[in-house]
Amino acid sequence: MPLQFKRSWSDADLESYRDSVARFVEAEMAPHDEEARKRGNVGRELWRRAGELGFLCSDIPEEYGGGGGDFRHETVFNEEMARRGLTGMAASVHSIVAHYFLNHGTQEQKQRYLPRMARGETIGAIAMTEPGTGSDLQGVRTRADRVGDHYVINGSKTFISNGLLAGFVLVVCKTDTSKGASGVSILIVDTGNTEGFRVGRVLDKIGLKAQDTSELFFDNVKVPAANLLGGVEGKGFFQLMSDLPYERLVIGTMAVACMEGAYEATLEYVRDRKAFGQTVADFQNTRFKLADAATQITVGRAFVDRCVEQIVAGTLDTATASMCKLWCSETQGRVIDELLQLHGGYGFMTEYLIARMYTDARVQRIYGGANDIMREVISRAM
Ligand SMILES: Cc1cc2nc3c(=O)[nH]c(=O)nc-3n(C[C@H](O)[C@H](O)[C@H](O)COP(=O)(O)OP(=O)(O)OC[C@H]3O[C@@H](n4cnc5c(N)ncnc54)[C@H](O)[C@@H]3O)c2cc1C
Repeated sequence: MPLQFKRSWSDADLESYRDSVARFVEAEMAPHDEEARKRGNVGRELWRRAGELGFLCSDIPEEYGGGGGDFRHETVFNEEMARRGLTGMAASVHSIVAHYFLNHGTQEQKQRYLPRMARGETIGAIAMTEPGTGSDLQGVRTRADRVGDHYVINGSKTFISNGLLAGFVLVVCKTDTSKGASGVSILIVDTGNTEGFRVGRVLDKIGLKAQDTSELFFDNVKVPAANLLGGVEGKGFFQLMSDLPYERLVIGTMAVACMEGAYEATLEYVRDRKAFGQTVADFQNTRFKLADAATQITVGRAFVDRCVEQIVAGTLDTATASMCKLWCSETQGRVIDELLQLHGGYGFMTEYLIARMYTDARVQRIYGGANDIMREVISRAM
């Protein structure tokens, strides 16, 4: 019997939802991946289509235009992309941004942004990282000065996912430079026709080729005071911290789904490829490597599924979410590397799924909080 990586949290409704998602991903996303990778973004039309089909903001309440589901629905969409190595559409970042509105936004902000995000009419980005600071978020230098009923933003951000296509950006700024964490606020900057806002380079990366990770510049960008997330200054750092488990678990779920997809593709490859008068799958070494991979994936699946159940129940804590991000992304790196090896030279060719997964996997240990920061968070809970 072939190995099947069953999800403990799934049910008949979710599997039928998965079928619809998989059909969309196969028919409308995968065929355009190569051109998206060359262009450096998936294009706004794909976002609109995903919104139209109800795959965006699926865990946002219906009263704000979302799907009214929960984290499992989001996971289904992320998994179906991850297992096919489709990493251009950062729907997970879009969802994370939606949750900033849901959990911290004013009623007016939720109503203004969430329905359009769910429809895919506007794409969200979150800009924390700057050229001079990443892990040390309290050190951000982008500042927002209150002038009458506006804020004036100056600074620059880098490595921002969805940076080119975003219709608005949540910008992490200092509203009080004399303070550390309590001087940080989040401001909403609409990107269309906003004077002083500029997208810099779409960055040339070793992986995630179809993802528009960009530099952003803010030169005296004026935004209404009503664009302060939650309406109270100095809450930004705490808003960021409270939503981190969601982001870290997303990374864990995508790591496991990517390994599953890589495992299936490798199995197919080694059963077909011949060497020394037999298939590569017949070598004991191949079978042992695949057995190791299957074991790692099964362990990862059990852990990630427990975390999914916990987040749905509202009980996932920061340390466990950090363990999940840490273990799953480290394991993904090792497992994909071994599976690539079984492809021989073809594993080094970008036309093969495993090669794209290999380069894409590397960043999983860096973004969403670098893995050493995960270790720091876990050790603080000891
Ligand atoms: C493809 C991609 C997409 C991204 N998307 C976004 C996005 O949408 N929005 C956004 O704001 N950012 C985004 N980032 C930025 C990402 O979150 C940061 O790169 C990450 O947090 C690390 O920050 P840094 O690059 O400044 O590294 P640094 O903070 O300079 O870290 C360098 C090294 O020092 C280590 N280190 C730092 N502090 C400690 C410590 N206290 N203890 C031990 N080791 C430490 C780190 O682990 C790392 O190994 C993205 C990055 C990439 C590559």
